[in-house]
Amino acid sequence: MPHTYDPTNIFARILRGEIPNKTVLETPHSLAFHDINPAAPVHVLVIPKGPYVTFDHFAAEAPAEEIVDFHRACAKICAMVGVEEGYRAITNAGAHGMQEVPHYHLHILGGRVLGRLVERA
Ligand code: AMP
Repeated sequence: MPHTYDPTNIFARILRGEIPNKTVLETPHSLAFHDINPAAPVHVLVIPKGPYVTFDHFAAEAPAEEIVDFHRACAKICAMVGVEEGYRAITNAGAHGMQEVPHYHLHILGGRVLGRLVERA
């Protein structure tokens, strides 16, 4: 996957404070906020502050400190948002993954039974 980062994407604008967000948690290298169009009762997005396009970009190129910070932030979110009965953590990448915002983000969804992971073709 190409890893050319577009700094005009909406999450980059959130990180620069140009548009508001409903923050759940901020850490030195990560930000978690409520999805503007939630697909479940709990729908939080966790993003690294660094300029990574996709999961594989972040996993390949981010310094270890940022990767640890991101995953610890995800763990804190899971403990904070009421998903004791389970949740789904998913990330979309590129055209086939139907990624809308080209800044790596993990969706944490819960609060109801979520159905199958993907539709069968
Ligand atoms: P994806 O299709 O994985 O790129 O998901 C992008 C997600 O970002 C969607 O669930 C959108 O509802 C969400 N989203 C887009 N703009 C905003 C925003 N300004 N604040 C919060 N969530 C947003």
